[in-house]
Amino acid sequence: MHINTSEISKKLNLEEEIIKNAFEKRVISLNKYKNRKYIAFKKKLRHIERGTTLFLNDGMDVVMGYPKIRRALVLDPTLKKYFIDRVVVEEKLNGYNIRIVNIDNEILAITRGGRICPFTTKKVLKLLNMDILKDYPDIMLCGEMVGLNNPYVPNYYSEVDNTTYKDEYNIITENLGFYIFDVRNRETNMSLPIEEKNRLLEKYNIPHVKPLGIFKKEDVVEIKNIVMKLNSEKREGIVLKDPNMLVDPIKYTTHYTQYSDLSVAFKYLFDLGIDFMFSRLVREGYQSFEFKEGEKELEKRAMSIGKAIIYSMVESIKMVSRGELITEDFELYFDSEGDMDEFLNYLKELHITYVIKKREVLKNGAYRIEIGRVYSSTNDKIKGHLKGSLW
Ligand code: ATP
Ligand code: MG
Repeated sequence: MHINTSEISKKLNLEEEIIKNAFEKRVISLNKYKNRKYIAFKKKLRHIERGTTLFLNDGMDVVMGYPKIRRALVLDPTLKKYFIDRVVVEEKLNGYNIRIVNIDNEILAITRGGRICPFTTKKVLKLLNMDILKDYPDIMLCGEMVGLNNPYVPNYYSEVDNTTYKDEYNIITENLGFYIFDVRNRETNMSLPIEEKNRLLEKYNIPHVKPLGIFKKEDVVEIKNIVMKLNSEKREGIVLKDPNMLVDPIKYTTHYTQYSDLSVAFKYLFDLGIDFMFSRLVREGYQSFEFKEGEKELEKRAMSIGKAIIYSMVESIKMVSRGELITEDFELYFDSEGDMDEFLNYLKELHITYVIKKREVLKNGAYRIEIGRVYSSTNDKIKGHLKGSLW
């Protein structure tokens, strides 16, 4: 297909040579969703964020990528140094990032990588009233899809239990929900100030992350208390934002998150990168220091992290030794067989290897499937080592 790189160059204010080169190096991919063609930026390219999508329609509509959020390793003095005067603390939800947009009167859900996800697009249409995007087609609703029943980051959130089907004998609950955290202009990436954002989302009755508090940037003690409370509730962490969104947000996560990330990382130990593991370990060091832990608390943290690492790794080795396949499992609901097939094809396009573990038609005609994502390196390497291969 012919792609007009000169038009793309004008639209994005990026030299045509850079764009051509990026196509060649596959930094830009060409994709299709139904009859809609679009390109996606797999990496940041000059001022174009990773995950930016450009539609090859008449308007060449652009949806900018969601910017990276940098992390504070210590809250004090980072917040004082970084923010202007006040900080809004929002909960950081642990799901996957989605931008919802209206392109030529069609509502689409775009993932962090810049692809239109058929699963998410359909769920969003069921979960949310999208009048807001009809009234303001230039905005993107940036939010987190959370819950157990999604194909990317399955974590249970009690507040998103929805009954999908019920009769005398059965109740089926799908654990899935969506919370908006930013309202941005989809071409400029400019955010609405937090109060304005919340007012607008309330007006349209759209679920959004509610501020946990607004503080002076010196009030680190209060913010630390919020982190402790979230940790005890097994929640992920916080995102700190300037009330007017004039400086970029900062994130900070709980011990519980580091613990559960490490459990996952060591379960699939040869597939998740070493950087992933190392960065989580480092966070624990700074957190223990900042929270001024004594002997006992330090030991507790050490035990917890040690368990996350050793227990999951040994479990994986045992599984392979029994001849079992290590997979990460997802239980998903689809309204129809067509929807299910469409999504499975999408996974294939993304080169994600999976096996179907269960497949069932429910009485209301919906489909429930369990898919297992196969972590090939972990399976193959452990198998090899157990047969005597040297490292
Ligand atoms: P990054 O590229 O920003 O480092 P990451 O993939 O490492 O991203 P995270 O560590 O989860 O992701 O942190 C950033 C992500 O947190 C955002 O992309 C967004 O999906 C998610 N998030 C959850 N809650 C919020 C919130 N209240 N405000 C902003 N982002 C949030
Ligand atoms: Mg996340």
